[in-house]
Amino acid sequence: MSIQHPEITSADLAEIRGRLEAEAQARSQLLAEGDADGELEEGLRLTAEQFVADLRDAIERIDDGRYGFCEACGGAIAAARLEAVPTAAQCVSCVDRPLRPLGR
Ligand SMILES: [Zn+2]
Repeated sequence: MSIQHPEITSADLAEIRGRLEAEAQARSQLLAEGDADGELEEGLRLTAEQFVADLRDAIERIDDGRYGFCEACGGAIAAARLEAVPTAAQCVSCVDRPLRPLGR
């Protein structure tokens, strides 16, 4: 079951998915190389791993038809925000306030 996002078409989704996938691949590759060299600082590695996890999450949400909708309030996330933060899982107003159960 998926709801049509008011601003994002399925063609957009396919394009976003491609970008996220490429980014996740590239980051994983860098991580693997950094690990092999033992060059990557622990903090940096964790940040990079978290980012890859966020990318994979976003890809999963695209596949599930949940991408572009806020995990907290269920509302559509503005396309401008997704443009800036493609891995965003919450709308701006939910990020700005503590997590609450459904309802606004
Ligand atoms: Zn929200």
